[in-house]
Amino acid sequence: SSAALAAPSRPAPDTGASDASDGACAVTVERGPREVFCGLTGIIWLHRKIQDAFFLVVGSRTCAHLMQSAAGVMIFAEPRFATAILEERDLAGLADANDELDREVTRLLERRPDIKLLFLVGSCPSEVIKLDLSRAAERLSARHAGRTRVLSYSGSGLDTTFTEGEDAALAALVPEMPAAAAEAAPNLLVVGTLADVVEDQFARLFAAMGLDSVHFLPARHADALPPVGPSTRVLLAQPFLAETARLLEKRGARRIPAPFPLGEEGTTLWLSAAAEAFGVDAATVERVTAPGRERARAALARHKGALAGRRIFFFPDSQLEPALARVLSRELDMVPVEVATPYLHRGLMGPELDLLPDGVSVVEGQHVYEQMDRCRAARPDLTVCGLGLANPLEAEGLTTKWSIELVFSPIQGYEQAGDLAELFARPLLRAGLLKV
Ligand code: SF4
Repeated sequence: SSAALAAPSRPAPDTGASDASDGACAVTVERGPREVFCGLTGIIWLHRKIQDAFFLVVGSRTCAHLMQSAAGVMIFAEPRFATAILEERDLAGLADANDELDREVTRLLERRPDIKLLFLVGSCPSEVIKLDLSRAAERLSARHAGRTRVLSYSGSGLDTTFTEGEDAALAALVPEMPAAAAEAAPNLLVVGTLADVVEDQFARLFAAMGLDSVHFLPARHADALPPVGPSTRVLLAQPFLAETARLLEKRGARRIPAPFPLGEEGTTLWLSAAAEAFGVDAATVERVTAPGRERARAALARHKGALAGRRIFFFPDSQLEPALARVLSRELDMVPVEVATPYLHRGLMGPELDLLPDGVSVVEGQHVYEQMDRCRAARPDLTVCGLGLANPLEAEGLTTKWSIELVFSPIQGYEQAGDLAELFARPLLRAGLLKV
């Protein structure tokens, strides 16, 4: 993809790299050229989730191509994302890009009165010419007040990797959330995009445990922003939301530490952490979760034969890597060789690191050439990586899994545990068939 940021030559790894021990894992910090999608990619799943939002990327043809290829071949009658292309005149400062942007936005909103929330999404080119999108958003919000709220965030490859685009988008929503009344009853806010079907399953489980004030961020509609305040307890459904979590905490909310709801064990620990924070007794949690746990265990068992004992190597992409490695090692008996993640927020990932097998190598950041060498030397059975690395590794005889699929597919919760395992089993089965 065009969003790949690997440098053309091979610089030495950052000598400031450090080793640290987090629980039982050795964490290495690595800096150097990286090969990872930029934050624009998040639009692909965010636009499906917030049903009356529109994402206008202010970028180049490269950005438009990335969006098109990441979105696959889906053609919408009325798409909910687009790219306002900065031409050479804009980049050379010969045109007033602000005037053009205002004109395009006005034209768009006249044609599409269904848009209630418009995100102006910054890119590398808009940053390079220093187009101030936050001021543009303020200006346009005032102009279209009462009809469309306009916000901005950066999805630029200079600032963000892959899933950080969602963090930036949700962080832009936090100041817009209404204040929860000071005397409000404790309420749960689940943060991070989940497929609607998964969100509904979790909502039913929370309701069965007696939690009656549960909200999700992002909400499905722009005007349904949940309230936040000191009575709010935040439960992250995705690990890549450090900035959003920080801003919610600044508004008085308190975060519930937990592993992420992947696999049978992770889902149970995640639900139990919320239940405990709201004083729900263990017997109720046990009763409510037992059928789901049973189904998840049975679904996972069906894939164990294909996965047990297989060695897996993670390149850093989505920040889901430690949680995925935890499910694969603890519930499917896979052997993580290296678990790399673009960023490792110790506060959010602590509960995951505690569950990783002793001695597993966790890498924060990337020096893509060093990592390719380690991967070649390790010859893992399965390598999880971005689209840009998959073909070269396959050509060298390594079996790969595209990390982007793990973000696009519903994999959270009990009912999806089998699908999660299958995403890893499928490439191994295919490779086995090809060998035959
Ligand atoms: Fe490429 Fe930057 Fe546009 Fe992303 S934002 S597609 S990295 S130019």
